[in-house]
Amino acid sequence: MRKRIIAGNWKMYKTAEEARSFAEAVKGKVSASERVEAVICPPALYLSELVQTMKEDAIGIGAQTMHEEKEGAFTGEMSAAMLQSIGVRYAIIGHSERREYYNETDESVNRKVHAALAEDLTPIVCVGESLEERESGTTVEKVANQVKQAFKGIHAANAVNAVIAYEPIWAIGTGKTATAEDANEVCGEIRSTVGQLYSDEVANNIRIQYGGSVKPDNIEELMSKEHIDGALVGGASLQPESFLTLVEAAENA
Ligand code: 13P
Repeated sequence: MRKRIIAGNWKMYKTAEEARSFAEAVKGKVSASERVEAVICPPALYLSELVQTMKEDAIGIGAQTMHEEKEGAFTGEMSAAMLQSIGVRYAIIGHSERREYYNETDESVNRKVHAALAEDLTPIVCVGESLEERESGTTVEKVANQVKQAFKGIHAANAVNAVIAYEPIWAIGTGKTATAEDANEVCGEIRSTVGQLYSDEVANNIRIQYGGSVKPDNIEELMSKEHIDGALVGGASLQPESFLTLVEAAENA
């Protein structure tokens, strides 16, 4: 059975004080589990501190983005090796906001997936369609292509360690969630794309999250679906109570 993964993407929210008080509030409240893996992706500034303060907790820490090179003259960037060296274990790659505002492309996403896996980070690879694409019926084509591009040149033994996050762009921060059926259908298509790229075994083992207005009141239904193995959560991951509720719901659903 695939282990579910609930990851909170804080985006550009929280002062240091607020990040600390979140950490205090969740401390000791998430136990190691066979069923669910919990992850928080704070702004880069707080990664190191949260890795330290969450050391005894079953909550992994992830970056919201990373650079594809190991080192170099890339002002403002950080590499997978640097993240690994401070104890970060996950990196969100190709979030639609990065694709839209920072010119990330399928090619750079692919290079980042290679770089993350080479440093033993778990890449959370984001794919998803715009409203226009959904309405014109090209959702599956779009996400399947994003998956194919992201995994170009990645060996099956590594691909299976990645996580794919299906985040329809029109559902992010809008309060509009894809219906659980629609989300499951696209996640199923993503799984079959992985099957075509690799094998049934990789397809059956790779974890696929849904993201886009996930909240405590819709998590159970989403988790009940065959192809949805967790959630990538923005707004509802910012409050400790709500984050803990999501993790608990994924444990019990
Ligand atoms: P919301 O949960 O705020 O819609 O954000 C989703 C998201 O972009 C997570 O990466």
